[in-house]
Amino acid sequence: MRAPNTLRVDFGFDEAQQRRHDAMVACGRDLPAGEAGMAALAEVGVLGLPVPTSHGGGGESLVSTALAFEGLGRGGADGGVLLAAGAHLFGLTMPLVRVGTAAQQKHWLPRLARGTLVGTVAATEPDAGSDIAQVAAQLVDADDGWRARGHKRYVTWADRAGVFLFVGRRPSQRGLTCALVERSDGVSAGEAYAVPGLREARLAPVVFDEAPVDPDAGLLGKAGAGMAVFQLSMAFERALVLAFRLGTMQAQLDAAVDFARRRRVGGKVIATHQAVSHRIARMHQRLESARLLTYRAAWSLDRGDRAQLPAALAKWTLADAAVDNALDAARLRGGLAYESDALTAELTDVFGGTIHSGTADVLASIVAAWLGL
Ligand SMILES: Cc1cc2nc3c(=O)[nH]c(=O)nc-3n(C[C@H](O)[C@H](O)[C@H](O)COP(=O)(O)OP(=O)(O)OC[C@H]3O[C@@H](n4cnc5c(N)ncnc54)[C@H](O)[C@@H]3O)c2cc1C
Repeated sequence: MRAPNTLRVDFGFDEAQQRRHDAMVACGRDLPAGEAGMAALAEVGVLGLPVPTSHGGGGESLVSTALAFEGLGRGGADGGVLLAAGAHLFGLTMPLVRVGTAAQQKHWLPRLARGTLVGTVAATEPDAGSDIAQVAAQLVDADDGWRARGHKRYVTWADRAGVFLFVGRRPSQRGLTCALVERSDGVSAGEAYAVPGLREARLAPVVFDEAPVDPDAGLLGKAGAGMAVFQLSMAFERALVLAFRLGTMQAQLDAAVDFARRRRVGGKVIATHQAVSHRIARMHQRLESARLLTYRAAWSLDRGDRAQLPAALAKWTLADAAVDNALDAARLRGGLAYESDALTAELTDVFGGTIHSGTADVLASIVAAWLGL
């Protein structure tokens, strides 16, 4: 493996992209919580933005899509709903666009693109998180197709998703197999975890108990070759699922600049202290680095690359930057930061981003492998 030339990059935002971004900022400002929020995203076409128009989507590039999500975050839309929208669009729908057969795309994409069907990823198990190859869930034969069996955990939008990208294995095969499993009586979501942040993402365990699977419509990629499909799903997620955070971080940075210019201590505005201004400069540095890596990863996927390296770099940088910037924004406000529950919500929301779609350790291993280490 050789690391691709990371300097080869070419994206720019035209007026139409900028207009959509601005519209998404407005949408993000008013986005309701919960299912109503997902319905509102469907209404404005976000849930199918990069899906080809021939399948009912917006036909936009992933770079445009990232900019739209950045706008939603800038407007202040709930991170949990945007995470769930990202699982739907990047975790499930885009892999289908990339590797689904023509018949599968016709079957699933129009509903997914319009948001009448919302999907998510059901991969993680008690003994298979970072090491997804350890998945024990199965896709077994039945008279009329397959049945999905297994216990999944930390599934986003668990009790609301209509279809799951199920990662399992065929009993006769060593490799993983990915299949689209529709919600049925054989699928039950447990109680949502009492997570401290991202509550609107509805994280919960999901049990698949003989859930019917139609292999013609559901088998994604080849049986036994599901690791490649899962990696593709993760590449889309890693590149784009946190793009909305760029917007929340921009709003946070603007507020930090404003606060530092206004807050006076001992007759001096705190911005005149280099320790304060440099802290804010570092927030900007982290945000811009994460932003460039995110758009680069989106651009790379737009070109049809597998983009594993740029996606890992983007997700790793952005997730860590969001935590570091949230801490710096809090430090800046002194006691004011400690006055309300907002601090807990903010920190736990961004911390969640360091875990899903690959922890920093897992992403560092991917980067190291690309470097030949
Ligand atoms: C907000 C949120 C949303 C999520 N959404 C979904 C979802 O929609 N669908 C889904 O299937 N899952 C989802 N997850 C689960 C998530 O993908 C897993 O939690 C994650 O992959 C880590 O797995 P784990 O929790 O089992 O931790 P573990 O794999 O047990 O890791 C524990 C620690 O060990 C480290 N570690 C483990 N293996 C290695 C290694 N090989 N090298 C170096 N370090 C290692 C990890 O980095 C971590 O620090 C979500 C999680 C969160 C927090």
